Amino acid sequence: MTPFEAATFFFHKAADRLRLNDHRREILASSYRELAVQVPVRMDDGSIQVFRGYRIQHNGARGPYKGGIRYHPSADLDEVRALAALMTWKNALIDVPFGGAKGGVQCDPRRMSSGENQRLSRRFTAMISYVIGVNRDIPAPDMGTNAQTMAWMMDAYGQKYGYTPGIVTGKPVELGGSPGREEATGRGVVICTQEATKRLGTDFAGARIAIQGFGNVGYWATQLAAQAGASVVAVSDVGGGTYNSGGLDLEALSRHRLESETVAEFAGGEKLTNEDLLELDCDILIPAAIQDVITSRNADRIKAKIVVEAANGPVNPVADQILNDRNIVVVPDILANAGGVTVSYFEWVQNIQQFQWELQQVNDELHKRMVAATDAVFDRSESEKTTLREAAFDIAVDRVAHAAEIRGYV
Ligand code: NAD
Repeated sequence: MTPFEAATFFFHKAADRLRLNDHRREILASSYRELAVQVPVRMDDGSIQVFRGYRIQHNGARGPYKGGIRYHPSADLDEVRALAALMTWKNALIDVPFGGAKGGVQCDPRRMSSGENQRLSRRFTAMISYVIGVNRDIPAPDMGTNAQTMAWMMDAYGQKYGYTPGIVTGKPVELGGSPGREEATGRGVVICTQEATKRLGTDFAGARIAIQGFGNVGYWATQLAAQAGASVVAVSDVGGGTYNSGGLDLEALSRHRLESETVAEFAGGEKLTNEDLLELDCDILIPAAIQDVITSRNADRIKAKIVVEAANGPVNPVADQILNDRNIVVVPDILANAGGVTVSYFEWVQNIQQFQWELQQVNDELHKRMVAATDAVFDRSESEKTTLREAAFDIAVDRVAHAAEIRGYV
């Protein structure tokens, strides 16, 4: 199953339960606009490399298109299309006034210098500038991109259209970014997990947590989960993982990470592979790296009682069914990792108002929205006797279908 087939699978199930008519189903199942571009970049050695880039706008019934830009070798048309659709459902579920979009460039930023990365980002922005805009489509960071990438994108767009901070979110705070955006996705993951444990009648404090991925989302989820009293027993990145049954010393691990390429070599833990981490005996497993890591191959061996999808699409549909059958609770991506786009919404609002909020206000508003969305998903799952993913998709698809209807799309 391709990433888009997996994303569409959950949509069609919701469309069946909601009894959407054929026209509405067709409009919501496919992208509104798909832009594919060549991105030629002069590399440091003088050669020219031509990368493939995409900006895909899935649905704009509820507002301007919104979604991140991914730089990764696997970021092809199908993957970006799947991620754009997920953004439509996520934005509707967390109830921010945005449609869904995603962008990607098929490249490996780890093998590129800062200069090459900057030239790529500027050129890509110029190529997609016809379809983005403050009230049209607002990119943000995703895997392989960060606040620096957003600064280059804002600058490249501004050279053509004038100073426009609201064109991207996830910018550095000095350039109009929001306080709290950097850690927002990880913070949202932790708030949602705390609320989920409350609803499930278990304790977050003292829970043994394993987190795959130590990038923006994984790093902050690790720090904030520990601050909230959980015991982070394992983390990993692309180079492998580290495990300590008594809980990892996160300060020492962060220092180690600054000096080393990977967390795998950390002296305060035992080495383990990414596969081992996923199958670890723990209370809560948080995949926060890439898609499709829990599949029919390993779903039978997952030992956690709760899986929180901090990454997009880490559990594929077959594995989702296996985990449900085994009574393992899966908190779906469109809920769990919605904190990032929520604070991106606050950043966009601040840019439009030309007024900066204080960190406390950002965190309070994020907390309110994450708790409300998590409770709404649990309430619907209990009343309709569905899984959390089914409940989340039902709420989201219903909202987008209703917006499409009252706009007069169908
Ligand atoms: P990132 O690039 O900052 O970090 C990615 C992490 O995953 C790194 O630690 C990397 O080493 C690890 N990784 C990469 N390939 C791996 C592999 N094959 N096996 C194990 N680990 C691997 O990315 P991020 O922004 O933290 O995003 C992580 C996930 O969260 C993605 O699925 C992304 O779509 C999703 N997400 C991110 C945000 C955000 O605000 N950044 C918001 C919502 C969802």
